[in-house]
This record gives sequence, C-alpha cells and structure tokens, in this order.
Amino acid sequence: MPDRSTIFALSSGRPPAAIAVIRISGPAAGRALETLIGRRPQPRQAALARVRDPASGELIDEALALWFPGPHSETGEDTAELQLHGGQAVIVAVLDALAAIDGCRPAEAGEFTRRAFENGRLDLTAVEGLADLIAAETPAQRRLAFRQFKGLIDDRAEAWRKRLIEALALVEARIDFADEADVPEDLVGPALHAAQQLRDEIAKVLADAGHGERLRDGLVVAIAGPPNAGKSTLLNRLARREAAIVSPHAGTTRDVIEVHLNLGGYPVTLLDTAGMRESADPVEQEGVRRARERAAMADLVLWVIDASASGGAASGRPEGFGDTPVWLVKNKADQAAARPCRASAKPSGDEFKFTLSISALTGAGVDALEAALTGFAKGYFAATESALVTRARHRHALAETVAALDRAVSRGRTGQEELIAEDLRLAATTLGRLTGRVDVEDILDVIFRDFCIGK
Ligand code: GDP
Repeated sequence: MPDRSTIFALSSGRPPAAIAVIRISGPAAGRALETLIGRRPQPRQAALARVRDPASGELIDEALALWFPGPHSETGEDTAELQLHGGQAVIVAVLDALAAIDGCRPAEAGEFTRRAFENGRLDLTAVEGLADLIAAETPAQRRLAFRQFKGLIDDRAEAWRKRLIEALALVEARIDFADEADVPEDLVGPALHAAQQLRDEIAKVLADAGHGERLRDGLVVAIAGPPNAGKSTLLNRLARREAAIVSPHAGTTRDVIEVHLNLGGYPVTLLDTAGMRESADPVEQEGVRRARERAAMADLVLWVIDASASGGAASGRPEGFGDTPVWLVKNKADQAAARPCRASAKPSGDEFKFTLSISALTGAGVDALEAALTGFAKGYFAATESALVTRARHRHALAETVAALDRAVSRGRTGQEELIAEDLRLAATTLGRLTGRVDVEDILDVIFRDFCIGK
C-alpha cells in the first residue's frame, strides 16, 4: 500500500543560500499552501506569496509559490513548491509550520523520487539516471546520465521485451493448439529465430557494458612503482591539491589513495598505491597486497621510477598487471640530467606502451603526461557515450536474459516446447526487472537509499 501521508523537505542545497526550495507532495499539499500563504496559486504559474506562521500569524517571508495538481506533477501527486529566502531561520520556521499541519511529515531520503516511481512517472533506470545526473562531475557523465534519465535503456529493454513476448506467444500457441489441424506446424522455428536475433543484439550491448560503467565511475589509472620514486608527488601535481601525504621516508604511503580528476571532460580516478616492495613489516605487506590488488584491476598503470637512482632507469616492465597497459614514467628528470651515466640503460620500446620523462617536483613533462592521459581517456570512451549499460545491475539483468535465450535456442526444435517457453518467459522477466516493471520490491531500497532527502 502506498503511504498516503504528505511529505515535505528542503530540496535545495545546504543553507545559507540565496534561495531555498521547499517541496511538498501528497494529498494535503494544497491545504498546506492554503495554511501557509492563504491560497492555492494558478496551477504551474509562479505566484508571489506571503508566508505566515499559521499559529501566530507572524509573517515569515515573502516567497514564490508554485502549485502542481496531480497527476501531472513530478511525483504524480498534488505537489507544491515554495522558493524562500535561503536563511537557516526562515527554513526552520517554514518546516516547523509544515510539520504542524495535519497529515504532513518530513520526507525520507529519496521519497519524492520513490513516489514518482510508484506513480509510474519514472521507471527504475530513469530513477538511477536521475541519481547519476545529480552526482555527475564531468560533461560526459552528465550526458550519459541525462540520456539514461530520458529512458534510453528503458526504451530498448521494453522493445526487446515486447519482441520476446511475441516469440513466447508463438511457442505457447504451438503448445496450446498442438493437436489442431489449422495451426501451422512450425511456430517454434520463427520463435527461436527471433530469440537468436534478440540474444545477439543484447550480447552486443553487453559487450560495451564495462565502458558505460567506467564512464559512470571513472577510468581507473593506478600510479605504481618502487618506494620513493615520487608517486605521491606526481599524484599531487596531477590533482593540483595535497590529497596524498608526500614523505621523504620510503614506504610511508601505506594505503591506496584515490583522486578523482576531470580530464578533457572524462572522469579519471587516480590511485596512488603504496610503495611496492617486499617488506617484513606486516602492516606494510598488507598495504602492498591491497595496492597490487587495486592496481591489477586498473585500466592503465603509470609505472613511476626514480630515473636518478642507480639501476632505476633500467627497470623493466613490472609483473602482475596482466594485459593492462603500463606506461613507464621516468621521474626526477631534474636530477637524472645531472647524472648522465645513469641515462644510458633504456628499456626497450615494446616493454612499455609508452615511455616519458618527467619531474614531478618541478612539473617538467607533467603537461605532456596529462595530455597523454586525456588522449587515453578519450580513446577509451570514444565509443562509450552511446553506452546503454551503466550499472552492474543492468549488466546482471542483461546477462541473465542472454543466458536464458541461449538455453532456449540451444534446445532447438527438439519438441521441448514447454522448456523453450519457460526460458523465454524467464528472459522476459529478467528484462522486466531491469526497468522495474516486475519483481521490484527487493531492489527498490538499494536504489533509493542513494538519494538525499528532498529528492
Ligand atoms: P613515493 O614513495 O613514490 O610516493 O614518493 P614521494 O612522492 O613520497 O617522493 C619521495 C621523495 O622524492 C620526496 O622527497 C620528493 O620530494 C622527491 N621527489 C619526487 N619527485 C621528484 C622529482 O621529480 N625530482 C626530485 N628531485 N625529487 C622528487
């Protein structure tokens, strides 16, 4: 049963601010407006209004009031909005006055959006897109989130589901009317053909999944290398702020430090890993283990070495990164120049995808590194702006659908119509779960808990 109480919350950012927006949604929203400003304005038109404390009659503020009668409102319910002056005391006075109105209570996190979903104003992927839109930090993330909010994956999933149901109907017709003379013999063949086509289409979208998720979460670039090579110094320079502790003692960066960057509009997460070397200290060993684990999952590794140290420049491609591209970053070029005898041992070109010389301390060469990173991100994301799958949840649902379709197809025309129908039904159900049209209760909480109050 949907909760019929009327909810309200501050929907704008943290006060004090120039303007504060308080939203009210539910059956008592109109009455709340009458109580606070003495009337309901014309629907969907901004009206100047005096907001009074209903108990004392005292004037609290002069505000803009908006009235959106349901069902054509954001939540699908009667909705009201007050744009007040964004001072702490003004907001508190209005929220207190609202709380005193019968049937009104403060909203919980994500509750406005949840009502929009329950009233069919948004589907689940749109809800997620909305969350991502609010959280987007770079233009590419914003575009991806906005497209999702506008229902791109939902439209595709619904179209797939309709085709699946059509295929299913053919198989069911075959089952139901197996004995009747005027039912065509081969209904299962066309159904399986359609299932195969769908399977291939969905699998193609799935193949792009990693990129879409990365665009949402950021491309992961690990900065790794021996202790004291200058990893933290480089991270700080790239981040242009003191996010990592830079220390002259070897092995002091014990944990993994993350910095989020916007490189040419693309989100990049930089990981500074603890100095990777064998150590007897258990705390340090744990740091090294964790660092290796994170770095192994990165999309790119910057292997930083101290080019001025003896043997440093001779370092070969480090182990443990699998197929991940590794760039060799020869740091401390400012000192290396003063020791020409060390510069001779060059690693061969094909050990590393890319080699460059920098000084994290002076900043020399860092622009070139940043440009190369931006180019890498651009290349990685080039085809990704059209990615449909932005979350593990989508990927799971689509993978399950493909698996069910695979089973249906592989049964072939072996007369196992019931089993084929069952697999097609399962495929339709998993697709429906993606958009929230079936079987949603268990995933709702997970999605809505990411929202803030007033959203
Ligand atoms: P990490 O252990 O790899 O994170 O190394 P740090 O960033 O803590 O740097 C170790 C030491 O090397 C510090 O004293 C830095 O100031 C110094 N250092 C880092 N980069 C450079 C550089 O490009 N040139 C010089 N001369 N010193 C550097």
